Amino acid sequence: MNVTFIGLGIMGSRMAANLLQGDLTLTVFNRSPAPVQSLKRLGAATAGSCRAAVAAADIVVTMLSTPEAVAQVAWSETGFIPGMPADALWVDCSTVNPTFSLKAATIANAHGIRFMDAPVAGSKPQARSGELVFFAGGSADDLEMVADMLHLMGSKVLHVGPVGQGAALKMLVNAMLAQAMLAFSETLLLGEKLGLSRDFLLKILPDLPVCAPFVKAKAEQIRTDDYTARFPLSLMHKDLHLAALTAYENGQPLPSANLAKEMYASARQHGLGRDDFAAIFKFLDER
Ligand code: NAP
Repeated sequence: MNVTFIGLGIMGSRMAANLLQGDLTLTVFNRSPAPVQSLKRLGAATAGSCRAAVAAADIVVTMLSTPEAVAQVAWSETGFIPGMPADALWVDCSTVNPTFSLKAATIANAHGIRFMDAPVAGSKPQARSGELVFFAGGSADDLEMVADMLHLMGSKVLHVGPVGQGAALKMLVNAMLAQAMLAFSETLLLGEKLGLSRDFLLKILPDLPVCAPFVKAKAEQIRTDDYTARFPLSLMHKDLHLAALTAYENGQPLPSANLAKEMYASARQHGLGRDDFAAIFKFLDER
């Protein structure tokens, strides 16, 4: 099986490295060269362009930042789609909106390419340890073809439904994630105003049933004032934008996620976009 992996950022570089453990031939491509060299040292093949990278691919996996980046890499003038062998399968793991996944499938299908959306739950540590959860949208046959490959990068593969449904579920998950982080942050600051120490609250609150399990790791980032990105704040802002867009398309009010979106937008404007999204706390604290 020839697999091409495009997009070697925080997530993609670690996911691609795990693919090298499998019985497949891996070719990688990234816009900037540094991560390509790291994967090359680990044993991956490389190519001079994304189109050249997919020339012999049975499967192409993309892990790119935004819908705009996916469109640029897949179907701009230099995009990879026309370079894929007929009937090959493109698996987009980027977090995008469902409407965008459907458009990607339409464009791919028009070129004789199959398409599946398979965004992931989990962050940098799970990408490294191969414990991501895949939310797959596509046909059962296509999923069967890629299941073993996905299990090299993840501990669970969930078939959510047809194309677009993986993206739909992922969007819901991140809308909740963003709001839970914001709620924890402002509550923590109120607690301090009430005379409870930050250290005490960071220790006690994450163990209470009102806190989502992910908050524990974020509390540690706040305690150590280390906002090195696991999931960049700018991408959380992007995900809230996609949720807002999707709610609009479906005539569904989304008041608190839209409020959260504006808070993350302000934090991004404040220069915190490449920090972890836990830096929403730092933003509120410094305001
Ligand atoms: P990242 O570190 O910012 O990496 C983004 C990747 O996209 C890089 O390879 C970057 O290339 C590429 N890229 C961006 N714009 C491009 C363009 N116009 N043309 C070509 N390549 C472009 O992001 P990440 O954290 O790995 O996230 C990747 C995707 O996974 C995003 O959709 C994100 O929402 C999703 N996700 C992230 C996490 C997480 O915890 N980090 C968890 C789940 C899902 P360069 O290296 O050249 O910039």
